[in-house]
Amino acid sequence: MSTITPSQEQQIVDQVPKQLYIAGEWRDGAKGTISVEDPSTEEPLCDVADASVDDAKAALDAAVAAGPDFATMAPRERGEILRRAFETITERKDDLALLMTLEMGKTIKESLAEITYAAEFFRWYSEEAVRIDGRYTVAANGAGRVLTMKQPVGPCLMITPWNFPLAMGTRKIGPAVAAGCTMVVKPAQQTPLSMLMLAKILEEAGLPGGVLNLITASSSSETTGPLISDPRLRKMSFTGSTEVGRKLMAQASDTLLRLSMELGGNAPFIVFDDADVDAAVAGAMIAKMRNMGEACTSANRFHVAGAVADEFASKLAEKMGSLKLGRGVEEGTDVGPLIDDDQRGKVSELVQDAIGRGASAVVGGHQRDGAGYFYEPTVLTDIPDDAKLLQEEIFGPVAPVKGFTDEDEAIAAANNTEYGLVAYVYTNDLKRALRVCERLETGMIGLNQGMVSNAQAPFGGVKQSGFGREGGYEGIEEYLETKYVAVNL
Ligand code: NAP
Repeated sequence: MSTITPSQEQQIVDQVPKQLYIAGEWRDGAKGTISVEDPSTEEPLCDVADASVDDAKAALDAAVAAGPDFATMAPRERGEILRRAFETITERKDDLALLMTLEMGKTIKESLAEITYAAEFFRWYSEEAVRIDGRYTVAANGAGRVLTMKQPVGPCLMITPWNFPLAMGTRKIGPAVAAGCTMVVKPAQQTPLSMLMLAKILEEAGLPGGVLNLITASSSSETTGPLISDPRLRKMSFTGSTEVGRKLMAQASDTLLRLSMELGGNAPFIVFDDADVDAAVAGAMIAKMRNMGEACTSANRFHVAGAVADEFASKLAEKMGSLKLGRGVEEGTDVGPLIDDDQRGKVSELVQDAIGRGASAVVGGHQRDGAGYFYEPTVLTDIPDDAKLLQEEIFGPVAPVKGFTDEDEAIAAANNTEYGLVAYVYTNDLKRALRVCERLETGMIGLNQGMVSNAQAPFGGVKQSGFGREGGYEGIEEYLETKYVAVNL
């Protein structure tokens, strides 16, 4: 990676459209603007439009108006729009990575990885657009026929978080476009720039005006509330915290709005005594440190067999301690800043709570002074059962390591949470691997690997990590209704 200059940073920020995108037009927000900050410097990057309730309603009006034509556009054409957008994202990945790093903080290498992942949803769903089908079967009594057809759900509201500013959008927009749905997208106010660039790329790729409408807003509840209660809205797909997910679900109950909820996680990372400890440490580094620990899939707690717990903790601490903190745009940086001071405060509080109850910091345990919301990569051992970080999402570079004595204890500890997004299991015993995978209460499992994200696979959780799946064959079903016709022959 060559050194990125301040003028290159400014150039990419200047290229982003800063207005709302409604009905195929870029326009100002009625409430003025909101400031976007670089979390590595705490300096403002630029201002983007602040949508009012009327702007949000105009976005839904546009999605509703564009609905019927888009639903009947040839699936191949819808697929080709996604394919062209995939090509453009891939061609422009360096610019997009720089932008993402500036607004979110992660390293350029990590931003590039997210952009590849994000683009893959467009490639996958460009291929799925032409594979939407129904069925025609002879009824059991031989007299009638059962005919089913798949149709787009209709106008959707998509609300996305700041931690994966592009991929959390493409994971929803890809299948929605493939299925023939129109949409209003509201990205997180901390990271709207990647999504604004995406809207521009989709516009250039030929997405008809009104299909995707993008609003940025300083008050998400004020702007999205009236849309959620509008009976013309047919679906909401939300990625974010369980706490906000619960509120949105309550709001959606008035109209019985169809929902997909991709919520928080508290992933256990289990290492059995028959595992390859070095491979487990390598996997742990990915599962913990991807996105500085600010991922819903981040390993939140490490349950390690007593016989290998000390070896695992010391090898993990050595690797964590060697990571270099810095601005994501700088060469040699391994770990960027957290998103804001609140997030860093939460991480710090959880670490202090654990230490206060008897845990020991093998490495790290502090925030870094100076500009930027940096927190040191941290490994904690001697974790007491009542430490809050065993129950709460840490969302930071902190790895608590706790021993266990047998398989039943490991599974009980892993499942002892309201969350159920993902778990990681390291073992070289095939029977144990399958036995444990069957008993873990999560939507996804990384078996001898520290990452599960893959556009071809159904991503999603159980319990209070939500419901619905994004990616894979399953992802498009979230945007389709099945209509059954009883045929009298
Ligand atoms: P968040 O606070 O729940 O916010 C997510 C989005 O919801 C943002 O766009 C936010 O807008 C908006 N929002 C907040 N309150 C709202 C309300 N009352 N009405 C309507 N919209 C509202 O989550 P976050 O801090 O951005 O993201 C981190 C969380 O996302 C973590 O819990 C993480 O596990 C989860 N996550 C889950 C997945 C998954 O696939 N399961 C993936 C990534 C992240 P503002 O920006 O204006 O607040």
